Amino acid sequence: MGILSNLEPKPVFHYFEEICKIPHGSANTKAISDYCVRFAKEHQLKHIQDDANNVIIFKKGTEGYENAAPVILQGHLDMVCEKEKGCDIDFTKDSLDLQLENGIISAKGTTLGGDDGIAVAYILALLASDDIPHPPLEAVFTVDEEIGMLGATALDCSPLKGRTMLNLDSEEEGYLLVSCAGGVTAAAHLPIQRKEVSGTAATLCITGLIGGHSGVEIDKGRANACKLLGRALYELKKEVSFELVSVSGGLKDNAIPREASAALVFSSETDRKLFSETIAKQNSCYANEYIQTDASVQLLLTKEKETASVKAMTTETADKVITALCCLPNGIQGMSYDIEGLVQTSLNLGILSTKEDEVSFSFSVRSSVSSQKEEVADRIRCLMEALGGSVSYTGDYPAWEYRQDSPLRDLMVRIFEEQYGKKPVVNAIHAGLECGIFSDRLPGLDCVSFGPDMKDIHTPKESMDAASVQRTWEYTLEILKQLK
Ligand SMILES: [Zn+2]
Repeated sequence: MGILSNLEPKPVFHYFEEICKIPHGSANTKAISDYCVRFAKEHQLKHIQDDANNVIIFKKGTEGYENAAPVILQGHLDMVCEKEKGCDIDFTKDSLDLQLENGIISAKGTTLGGDDGIAVAYILALLASDDIPHPPLEAVFTVDEEIGMLGATALDCSPLKGRTMLNLDSEEEGYLLVSCAGGVTAAAHLPIQRKEVSGTAATLCITGLIGGHSGVEIDKGRANACKLLGRALYELKKEVSFELVSVSGGLKDNAIPREASAALVFSSETDRKLFSETIAKQNSCYANEYIQTDASVQLLLTKEKETASVKAMTTETADKVITALCCLPNGIQGMSYDIEGLVQTSLNLGILSTKEDEVSFSFSVRSSVSSQKEEVADRIRCLMEALGGSVSYTGDYPAWEYRQDSPLRDLMVRIFEEQYGKKPVVNAIHAGLECGIFSDRLPGLDCVSFGPDMKDIHTPKESMDAASVQRTWEYTLEILKQLK
């Protein structure tokens, strides 16, 4: 007897428990992919397994639905593998150690993989059923969603005839996701020249910032350390003379940088009193501006020491670097008028670094409107080219744009109201989802993402609410029944 075998709906929890026995971390998906293939063979269902380990399984419509338009059901096979200190589970070969407490399912010491194992369980239960009315089904199980949507990117979508898709990769019951951002990484490069200088070397730092995820936390108004460093350098330049050796800050494109610093050299004549006064003045501005969002922000001058000879940037180059830091766009560029409170377009200067002959600025650009993503990318290019630099783009992924007209969304809102007696929240997120890739590949795709309640996904505290799984199952069955 499995830990979950008394839970309803029984077939769903049966498959979920089976999946938890098969190691299926990202980049380790052959076994779970083969499990899906075995399932398809056992149930005599047409299926495709590709080289990436993605699997598509087809099932005919039930009686009365033979000629209905096919519906795509989609989820990802891989899970994030995180464990608590001291937990000795080996994610490459061990089963998860499931536990059930007061209707809440979790795995002892590890992530549960409810994200997105529950989608796989729902879909297998539907494919195995012989008493559930539904249109023809095209079940798409992708791999490596959690490490950059690699499976969906590699998938050949041409066998898919459906243009209505239920994506089961959301974690909040009562929320219907209908749009997500697309993105691209823009790396700008500015060549620099150097000259020999001597004087007092010092480091100017921006510190004490909170940072955060550049997609879902870009709307929190938090300061970007790299941008603030540029502003501080410009303010200082107005008052006193110094040489700029390097600028650096941030670790990842998709994280708002919490710290940034500049290496400087002062000549002996530099008025140090004026310098300190300018820093104090800047600190009081920042303290006032960021009192709500980054109350501990601080501009500091540290590590002063005499130096005989340093290769600093030429004045012309340093001016260009400071201009770029001040004028490159950053943060929210536009809000959505379709979905209240949704950031439509943004970018984050995530990494700033200096080499001998260039300074680089790396941005994560996001928008739920593809043309706006390009417009922001072009603005970075315009400025960099005017300054004598260049920009390269990598990791482009498409947006899932909001559809004004979505019969699926209308149907799902209506059924939700009938089943729950209240309206669902129709929402969008400012981050990437596989739905973006499918809507890009399948013209006219009408798609909604939803799922049962889960908490703390991607952490060892991950949990899933069994009652919510059951309600979401009933909801899914009704949607399929009405998709005639
Ligand atoms: Zn997921």
